[in-house]
Amino acid sequence: MAQPHTVVIGAGPAGLTAAYELTRRHAPVEVVEADDVVGGISRTVEREGWRFDIGGHRFFTKVSRVEAFWHELLSDDDFLLRPRMSRIHYQGRLFDYPLRAGNALKNLGVLEASRCVGSYLWARVRPPADQTHFEGWVSARFGARLYRMLFKTYTEKVWGIPATELQADWAAQRIRNLSLGAAIRGALLPKRGGNDVTSLIEEFRYPRLGPGMMWERCAELVVKAGGTVELETAVRTVHREDGRAVAVTVDGPAGERRIAADHVVSSMPISALVRAMDPPAPAAVRDAAGLLRYRDFLTVALVVPTEASFPDNWIYVHTPGVKVGRIQNFGAWSPEMVRDGGTCLGLEYFVNEGDELWSTPDPELVAFGTAELERLGLVSPGSVTTGYVVRMPKAYPVYDEGYGEAVEVIRRWLAEAVPNVHPVGRNGMHRYNNQDHSMLTAMLTAENILDGTDHDVWSVNVEEDYHEEGGSDGAGHSGTGQSGTGRAAPVVPRPRTAPPAEDRSPTG
Ligand SMILES: Cc1cc2nc3c(=O)[nH]c(=O)nc-3n(C[C@H](O)[C@H](O)[C@H](O)COP(=O)(O)OP(=O)(O)OC[C@H]3O[C@@H](n4cnc5c(N)ncnc54)[C@H](O)[C@@H]3O)c2cc1C
Repeated sequence: MAQPHTVVIGAGPAGLTAAYELTRRHAPVEVVEADDVVGGISRTVEREGWRFDIGGHRFFTKVSRVEAFWHELLSDDDFLLRPRMSRIHYQGRLFDYPLRAGNALKNLGVLEASRCVGSYLWARVRPPADQTHFEGWVSARFGARLYRMLFKTYTEKVWGIPATELQADWAAQRIRNLSLGAAIRGALLPKRGGNDVTSLIEEFRYPRLGPGMMWERCAELVVKAGGTVELETAVRTVHREDGRAVAVTVDGPAGERRIAADHVVSSMPISALVRAMDPPAPAAVRDAAGLLRYRDFLTVALVVPTEASFPDNWIYVHTPGVKVGRIQNFGAWSPEMVRDGGTCLGLEYFVNEGDELWSTPDPELVAFGTAELERLGLVSPGSVTTGYVVRMPKAYPVYDEGYGEAVEVIRRWLAEAVPNVHPVGRNGMHRYNNQDHSMLTAMLTAENILDGTDHDVWSVNVEEDYHEEGGSDGAGHSGTGQSGTGRAAPVVPRPRTAPPAEDRSPTG
């Protein structure tokens, strides 16, 4: 029987995994990618021989077929096992992260540590009246002083709203069963076993040339197996007829082209997918698409001499008064990411497309980042030799009031109106997915297409799952924790004045 012809939208981890799984079983596949590189958010960016990644992508998973897939694509020489080191910068001091009691005490000093304990005891005697929000909930369990040190600043930077507007239920999930007492016990006692993911990811896998290396290799193998991967080719329209999608129209270097399809696997933002439908989706579904919002991400990558840098893979910046949220040291991720004698520090800013920082010209951002880095005392003045800026729109699907219902409206309509259109991945499903879960949705989808199975990809990562940053260390780095559960991100309030963000096509 002839194999179905599939168009895959997006050459990120989800799209390329789907393409790989289909082509390895000899099914014809065309991948179309709007950007000029593969890898999506998991790409490697290269500028003048310096390589960096969007955030810092650890390859870790509990899904064995994902693990096997990665090892099938890259040999151990290319897929490095790297040690993890990360710390928290707070007011000029660096705290080990995950926290260790001895180190925390040393950093705080006896006086400040006593103040923290006092503030904790005070919170036990007089707990905050309102514990429905993040601030109240965490202060009740750690005391206001530690809350300000370890939770407030970073969380607010990542989500861009005051911690009093974040609902407590997210904290309750992320930092469950935790209080100062439990944190101290956890920090003092040796780690149990080697099986929990938190300890596993003290070492993590990382491709020699950054995460994009995995996806460049994947694209190569897709092409070798007879598929195609077209860059700078964006899907504009998904044509539907008689209860199915029949074709997509793409806009590429050679102009517009219509591609007939038996199946469409879509990792483009689900809101944009709805808007691409022709004939248009019903008004209620378009309205639901209009409700979905995103948070965007900007990296200022600064080159410094190796000796002027620090040994960490990354440092969380909890110090108030600077906008940078986290700083990656790409030379520590893989020595081959950087040129001889230097390293590249990636200053991460959590932004909204079009806001002041996003719109600042690159040279000014490089100067701004350099000034923040020097102010933090992380490099000596004058050591930055050059810098680059990368903007990544739609890095985070936002969970706000009503997002779940909106996704459900879209999901139901797609299943009924175009059952051969398969949403996969992160923005493809408006899910806070890591690479592994994005890939798993694609693997299951390939089976649904070729074997007629009925896997429910929407149930991937709904169940109890692992937490990258561990629910037990208390530093609450949930914003970039990327745990992979549906609730790795907090539900944030919808802006009262601004209309829902208009969807813009990704530009990388
Ligand atoms: C700061 C940060 C840190 C992260 N850290 C980790 C980590 O440590 N480990 C980990 O596993 N994951 C991490 N992630 C998550 C990881 O980046 C994503 O899970 C993964 O890239 C999602 O893959 P995807 O294919 O679903 O989507 P994407 O990577 O978003 O790829 C989608 C692709 O579709 C393309 N596209 C969109 N619209 C169109 C269109 N109309 N036509 C054609 N193409 C289109 C886009 O250009 C893009 O290339 C992190 C994410 C961020 C933001």
